[in-house]
Amino acid sequence: MFQNKKHRIALISVDGDPAVEIGQEEAGGQNVYVRQVGYALAQQGWQVDMFTRRSSPEQAAMSTTGYAYAQHSPNCRTIRLKAGPAEFIGRDNLFDYLPEFIEEFQQFQQQQGFHYSLIHTNYWLSSWVGMELKKQQPLIQVHTYHSLGAIKYRSIGDVPVIAAQRLAVEKACLETIDCVVATSPQEQKHMRILVSSNGKIEMIPCGTDTDKFGQIQRSAAREKLGIAPDAKMVLYVGRFDRRKGIETLVRAIAKSSFRGEANLQLVIGGGSRPGQSDGIERDRIASIVTELGLENCTTFTGRLDEIVLPFYYAAADVCVVPSHYEPFGLVAIEAMASQTPVVASDVGGLQFTVVPEVTGLLAPPKDEVAFAAAIDRILINPAWRDQLGEAARQRTEIAFSWYSVAFRLTQLYTRLLSETAPNTRPRIAV
Ligand code: UDP
Repeated sequence: MFQNKKHRIALISVDGDPAVEIGQEEAGGQNVYVRQVGYALAQQGWQVDMFTRRSSPEQAAMSTTGYAYAQHSPNCRTIRLKAGPAEFIGRDNLFDYLPEFIEEFQQFQQQQGFHYSLIHTNYWLSSWVGMELKKQQPLIQVHTYHSLGAIKYRSIGDVPVIAAQRLAVEKACLETIDCVVATSPQEQKHMRILVSSNGKIEMIPCGTDTDKFGQIQRSAAREKLGIAPDAKMVLYVGRFDRRKGIETLVRAIAKSSFRGEANLQLVIGGGSRPGQSDGIERDRIASIVTELGLENCTTFTGRLDEIVLPFYYAAADVCVVPSHYEPFGLVAIEAMASQTPVVASDVGGLQFTVVPEVTGLLAPPKDEVAFAAAIDRILINPAWRDQLGEAARQRTEIAFSWYSVAFRLTQLYTRLLSETAPNTRPRIAV
């Protein structure tokens, strides 16, 4: 049996830097996933190098080798490679810089004197990087999509120029690489129906930090945040993006039977940058809040860092995830780990994480009346809220810890490495 101890693997996430601050423009679930999976795999014995692109001039080279590192633990580091100018570039405009990324990656391997035997790529841009690398050296490629073009482009009016390229790459990836990881049974089904009936898929969910979330009492969290003990607090956490459906939540609050009561509070957490797409969406949501006369009960917190975020989840009566679509949706399980029930859209991975009537409730996406009814059912009954919260916590402990995600990935990697015929097996880097 192939042993994983101290073998080097590369997690590649060109557009999602695992070491960057989370919670604003294009930095969300993918970044968290790569970072947490990287940490957990390192704890399980792998030498993990996480590769991303350099996106700001401050990310200067930190070593004599000329590469920009962030060392997270002895076995886990982020390496930032040059791919285009060192500035933020939106995902839809990154494809042309990928050949430079590949060249840098090859030079890095050469300088270090080893080749990675296994790479785990994230998002379609990195899947292309992986497939190109595989043409040049023997390696095993595992991929997580994080989002499928085939679904995304169904729900937006403005399909970008890169769309056809993305769809072709996503199809080639599923059909040719060693294994694709689906993070929910729903994502797996969509891959089969919308991407290809060929290729290997293994379902391994995302995880959450059950030590970080779930250790704070509601009363203590409210005291810290200055929220009244009798407040009815409804929480949203996430990026400002139309597909997140924040508008549905705001309109649901306007229809809530608690509307007009002094203790109703809507807290919208997440960062934005003026003039960028998330800043534009934030302004749009703020204008709907004003139009509906909800300013007095609505707070925009800005980006919530990892220290304060657990307090918000713990303080809330209910966390709402009103996305039009989610392949997984980390926010739902973070709230659940914090013993806070979730009202979510009845779509994608949210149908897998949220068990209706047991850990929260599901409502049709974009249906503000159904969301209002679901939120009210929880706000009106604190005893049921606590019961749902307790079951939610139990579900995350059983099904969604990063430790168990890394354990299952380790089993997958180990199996793929040992299945490779000895004469074609990549040279193992130690
Ligand atoms: N997040 C955060 N601070 C914020 C807003 C979001 O740390 O102010 C984190 C959140 O805790 C979660 C991630 O961003 O871990 C969002 O992941 P999710 O899968 O819910 O959505 P995505 O960003 O992938 O669409």
